[in-house]
Amino acid sequence: MNTYDVIILGGGAAGLMCAATAASRGRKVMVLEQSRRPSPKILVSGGGRCNFTNIYAKPSNYHSSNPGFVNDALARFKPKDFIAIVKKKGIAYHEKKDGQLFCDKSAKEIIDLLVERTQQSGASLLLNQKVQQVYHEKDLFTVQLEDQSYQSSRLVIATGGLSWPQLGASDFGYKIAQQFGMKIVEPSPALVGLNFSPSDLTKFKDLAGIHLTVSASCGAWNMVEDIMITHTGLSGPIMLNASLVWEPGKEIVINWIPEMTVEETYAQLKKDKAAGGRGEFRIWFSERIPRRLADRIAWNAGARGAWAELPDETLMSLAKNIHEYRFVPQDTFGYRVAEVTKGGVDTREFSPQTMESLKVPGLFFIGEVLDITGQLGGFNFQWAWASGWVSGQAV
Ligand SMILES: Cc1cc2nc3c(=O)[nH]c(=O)nc-3n(C[C@H](O)[C@H](O)[C@H](O)COP(=O)(O)OP(=O)(O)OC[C@H]3O[C@@H](n4cnc5c(N)ncnc54)[C@H](O)[C@@H]3O)c2cc1C
Repeated sequence: MNTYDVIILGGGAAGLMCAATAASRGRKVMVLEQSRRPSPKILVSGGGRCNFTNIYAKPSNYHSSNPGFVNDALARFKPKDFIAIVKKKGIAYHEKKDGQLFCDKSAKEIIDLLVERTQQSGASLLLNQKVQQVYHEKDLFTVQLEDQSYQSSRLVIATGGLSWPQLGASDFGYKIAQQFGMKIVEPSPALVGLNFSPSDLTKFKDLAGIHLTVSASCGAWNMVEDIMITHTGLSGPIMLNASLVWEPGKEIVINWIPEMTVEETYAQLKKDKAAGGRGEFRIWFSERIPRRLADRIAWNAGARGAWAELPDETLMSLAKNIHEYRFVPQDTFGYRVAEVTKGGVDTREFSPQTMESLKVPGLFFIGEVLDITGQLGGFNFQWAWASGWVSGQAV
């Protein structure tokens, strides 16, 4: 009889955390994972070293249309709780920067840890099991695979988001939510680079490979971090984080030399001009940002020829190009390279204490399938662990 107390769809980060937690409470648990290997995304995460948590994770590191939803789970399962599990297993790790913890050796160690905990707790994990359908009748969920079915009174959807379809990401979780009449916050690629408009493309594409530290803002959001120019757009940690708040049509304002402002640079340029302008500011400028980028910004601002002869409007235009470059992305680099999906199943219809649906008792959604997206830096795994753990306590 394929009957369980709890069936978990998706053997990723959140699903495996939920499985081990629930099974160690004595629940009979089955995890169904479509891939040949458990948690394929962990293997590619953090450049193969898995940035498995962030010691400073807090609710403000997350984006959602229902921001307070994360509070309870993050408070009950903290980064230190996952670190304790990692330490107990003897996995060596280090802090890269800003609280971001990475494995010293390989992300595979985190997968092995999760699988071992799942097995030791007594939960079953079946691979190569692509779930096709879910039925719900008389408080019982029936999960239909190609050639067999499983039943349980508790069903946990941990099927993740749409990013990296090459690793099997699908909209399955959203379809289940819709089947049960739940709302979806429009999903889109996030933690992803942003493409130039055609006119910016001609201005910048041959500078691909240049990287530097800048500041950027988009509406109320702002940050100082590294940026990278690519053949199609702007990437690097600052643009990946910007993609969490950016929406089509919005502009991102970039300051290529964050320690100065338009006014300060304009004053400096005028001083340089008054002193005969033999290019001192230009040297200063190219000492602070890569020479080729400095020249291009000056060119784009129309600052060509002898600097001492440039009109004040051109100097102002140059100062604005340096400190207020208005980048209006054409679109994102897309799901194939996006680290996460922003949007997802609307959390307003779930208990923040347990992740259980308020409309359909016994049905739980956890991890990235929900409309919760963390910033770059280990926050998304922390959400997977926290939502997996609190649901595992409740199923
Ligand atoms: C390249 C890359 C690097 C990343 N690096 C980091 C990082 O360093 N730190 C960090 O915090 N976050 C990182 N992330 C994000 C992180 O991987 C995810 O947020 C996290 O894996 C989400 O966990 P989850 O369990 O909700 O979903 P997933 O890990 O995506 O797991 C969902 C599982 O469900 C399975 N599934 C889907 N549909 C079905 C179905 N119909 N039947 C059966 N199984 C199904 C999938 O195969 C998958 O294994 C990275 C993501 C990518 C793509």
